[in-house]
Amino acid sequence: MEFDERELIAEFFPGTDPKLFPPGEVLYYRDDEGRVVIEEAPFKAVFEPVKKVHPPRPLICEACKRPVRGADARFFRVRVARAEGEVYRYVALCEATAFCRERARPASLRKLLLKGILP
Ligand SMILES: [Zn+2]
Repeated sequence: MEFDERELIAEFFPGTDPKLFPPGEVLYYRDDEGRVVIEEAPFKAVFEPVKKVHPPRPLICEACKRPVRGADARFFRVRVARAEGEVYRYVALCEATAFCRERARPASLRKLLLKGILP
């Protein structure tokens, strides 16, 4: 039902600020190419993995908000279009997305999605 409401808003009021949509079902998964996808219809952000780095200290995963050892974390980037050109935003996430998904709160995923779609 919430999903339909979001679709209706997208259809009849295009350009509505994504932050003003009622909450829907948030999907968080890796696609066939290893990219992290966060989706809350009709919005979708795709984060591509970047070269693995080995930070000396644990990173805080932005999805599940837990400290993750460098070996188990990974930086991803999303390309965002802005007036002055495209920029990349970087996020640290668990490498094991399926495991992370079980612990991630929808509010945190929603925040990441907005990071990937808002200018
Ligand atoms: Zn995580």
